[in-house]
Amino acid sequence: MNERAAQYVLDKRDRIEWVNDAWRQFAEANGAPSLADGVIGTELWRYVAGPETQAIYRTLFDRAREGREIRVPYRCDSPTMIRDFELTVSRVGDAGLRCETRVVEERSRPPIVLLDAAAPRADGLIHMCGWCKRVKLQDWVDAEDAVNVLGLFTGGPVPQITHGICPECMERVLAAMG
Ligand SMILES: [Zn+2]
Repeated sequence: MNERAAQYVLDKRDRIEWVNDAWRQFAEANGAPSLADGVIGTELWRYVAGPETQAIYRTLFDRAREGREIRVPYRCDSPTMIRDFELTVSRVGDAGLRCETRVVEERSRPPIVLLDAAAPRADGLIHMCGWCKRVKLQDWVDAEDAVNVLGLFTGGPVPQITHGICPECMERVLAAMG
């Protein structure tokens, strides 16, 4: 168990039962201080964007409740940081789950308006993979490249984002589930 890793515990109905200090600090540092104290007792699904992503999490959780420890890499970027994380899910007690998110690597980059929750949104809709944060244009491309292609550096309208999963991540997640 890593003390710096953000951890939370879910009860058998996926309600957040407990979070550690590292989790609180992460929420505060990432512009969601209101989350830090209000999450206890709420359902995790409120914070997981997109039905596909939710479905995958549910499958991971089912596996973990069967007693398998699940480890999956994923990305959780902010507008100015690329962050590689690893999520570990293991069963606690009867049917509870302990989730631990560990930072594997962090590196900064110029701000990406696409990921700025405060940026005003146009009507257009683009599909983003909730796991690697790539964006589907013709192919799946990094958010940086999408910003270029969509002309967002030059003031083009920022499309709204829907979250899903790209084929590569689907394969990776399925592999992690065994
Ligand atoms: Zn992906």
